[in-house]
Amino acid sequence: MCMKIDVLTIFPLMFQGVLTESLIGKASKKKILDITVVDVRLFSKSRHKKVDDRPFGGGVGMVMKLQPFYDAIKNISVKRKSGFYKSPYAKSCVIYMSPQGKTLNNEILKNLLKFKHLILVCGHYEGIDERVMCYVDEEISIGDYILTGGEIPAMVLIDSMARMLPGVVKEKSSVTNDSFYNGLLDYPHYTRPAVFKGHKVPDVLLSGDHKKIESWRQKESYKRTEERRPDLLKIK
Ligand code: SAM
Repeated sequence: MCMKIDVLTIFPLMFQGVLTESLIGKASKKKILDITVVDVRLFSKSRHKKVDDRPFGGGVGMVMKLQPFYDAIKNISVKRKSGFYKSPYAKSCVIYMSPQGKTLNNEILKNLLKFKHLILVCGHYEGIDERVMCYVDEEISIGDYILTGGEIPAMVLIDSMARMLPGVVKEKSSVTNDSFYNGLLDYPHYTRPAVFKGHKVPDVLLSGDHKKIESWRQKESYKRTEERRPDLLKIK
């Protein structure tokens, strides 16, 4: 299975490294992910490739123009019978990275795995002309704070979603045991040496008794969740 992702940005160079290194780089090489970074500025029809303008109604800051985004989306879409331009893939989603969207979490990530094609739209300045919402299916935020642009949020989404795709992380259980996957925080991990400057690894982990180790991990996982994130244990 290969997931296609197009990222629409005016700063394509920001993605260098993030998309070619580590697990994301490997996922692309293995053709699990096919990511294209689209330079939205190239689609601007203005003489100086302008992508922003002053806000209607006055006030501070600049607003990103809709036309370059519209044409960038159109360029990676096909014309449907309805006359609208849509992704060539049946299961697709256009996502505007926005502080006003739903806050990204594991449930949203699991839902995104259903799509064959994601188009991630990155804003800047005061944001994109609100009419962009006519072409967007979802708004996703990475938290209640403001970044200068949508590029880092897009990278966060790609990275956190990619590790859930089969074949990206070697052992499936490293993903399913991770914090949040099953509603709990992960248990503590240790590696050699067994004693470091007097700090010892819990005896049970050196016992070789796998049943006991499993039970200790489950208890630790629950204990930490109760202590650090009791909200996760509340029935929703
Ligand atoms: N004026 C906007 C507001 O208050 O809602 C903030 C604009 S922000 C400076 C510029 C762009 O950065 C946004 O259009 C969005 O693409 C991105 N951005 C900023 N914070 C974000 C967040 N927490 N999650 C996702 N995207 C964010």
